[in-house]
Amino acid sequence: MSYIGRFAPSPTGPLHLGSLVAALASWLDARANKGLWLIRMEDIDRERCKDHFSHLILDQLSRCQLISDQEVVYQSQRTHIYDTYTSQLIQQGLLYRCNCSRAQIWSARLASTTGSPQNTSSFAGLVYPGTCRNIPPLLESTQAHGALSEDHWLGKSFALRIKTSPQTLDWWDRRLGPGAQDVGAEVGDFVIKRSDGPYSYQLCVVADDIEQCVTHIVRGEDLADNTPRQILLYQLFQHRPPTYMHVPLVKNKDGDKLSKQTLAPALDLDSMDKIIQTMKSAASHLGLQSTESTNCSLESLLQNWTHQWSLINPLTSPPIDH
Ligand code: GLU
Repeated sequence: MSYIGRFAPSPTGPLHLGSLVAALASWLDARANKGLWLIRMEDIDRERCKDHFSHLILDQLSRCQLISDQEVVYQSQRTHIYDTYTSQLIQQGLLYRCNCSRAQIWSARLASTTGSPQNTSSFAGLVYPGTCRNIPPLLESTQAHGALSEDHWLGKSFALRIKTSPQTLDWWDRRLGPGAQDVGAEVGDFVIKRSDGPYSYQLCVVADDIEQCVTHIVRGEDLADNTPRQILLYQLFQHRPPTYMHVPLVKNKDGDKLSKQTLAPALDLDSMDKIIQTMKSAASHLGLQSTESTNCSLESLLQNWTHQWSLINPLTSPPIDH
C-alpha cells in the first residue's frame, strides 16, 4: 500500500512529552503500514518560531531514533507554494480582505446576538460575523506573480478570509469515530493570510500535505477541531483528504494539556537510559506495553511497539456513508 505520514511540529519551544507522543504515534503508524514518515517544521510564524528550536527538536527526535525518511522541509521556505494555493482560492472568488480587529469582531458578534452568544467564551471559539464580506472581492488580476505580496495588495493591516457557506461537513477519525461540523455556522469565514503577514496554519498545513502527498495524518487530539476546515480546503483544491487519527493528549496534574504555557517539563534525553525511560512513558500513553528487561535496546522496543500498534490501530475504513 502507499502510505505517507508526517510529524509537523511548530518550533516555538523544545519538544515535551505531549509532542513526543504525537511524534511517536505518527512514526509507529507509518512503520506499521510500511510507509514513509516525514518531518516538516511549521515555522511560518517567524515571530513565534525560532531556528534554534527547530535544531533542538530535530536533535531530540533523532536521539529517540525518530528520523525523517526524506529531507526535512521548513514552511518558512515555502511561501511561493502558499502564494499558488491562495491564488487558486482567489480565482474561485472565495477570498476577501478583512481589516477587523479582534475587539471589532467581538463587539460585532455580541451586537448581532441576543443574550449570550454561543461559542464566544474565548476568542478562539468566536464565529467571525462576516463584517468585511461586502468589501469588493479580490480580482482575478491579483493572481499575477507577486500580487499577493504584503505591501502591494494587502497592506500591513489586511487579513485574507475565505467565504464559507452553511454546509455540514462529515468526517471520520480512526480513533474518535464520526464527526460533523458546519464550518460556516460554527467557525465562520476563517483566515487564510494573517494581517501581520504569514499565511495561516490552515492554508499551509493543507498545501503542504497535498504537496508532500501525505496520505495519513496522526496528531494530537487538540487539533481535531481544525480538521473540518482543512477538509473544506481539500475540497476546494479538488484533492482527496488524508485519513485522520487524533491521539490522546498528555495532561498535567491540573488536567491541562502539556504545553509551553502550562510549563511542561523539558525532556531529559541526556543518556540512553533516560531516552528509553522517556520513550517508554510516551509509548505507555499510547496504550503500548514495554518489556521490563533493563538491557532492551531502543531499536527492539520500537520494533515491538510497532507490532503492538498495528494490532491495536489497524487501518480501518470509515463506514460507507462517511
Ligand atoms: N504544527 C502543529 C502543532 O505543532 C501541528 C500541525 C498538524 O499536525 O497538523 O501543533
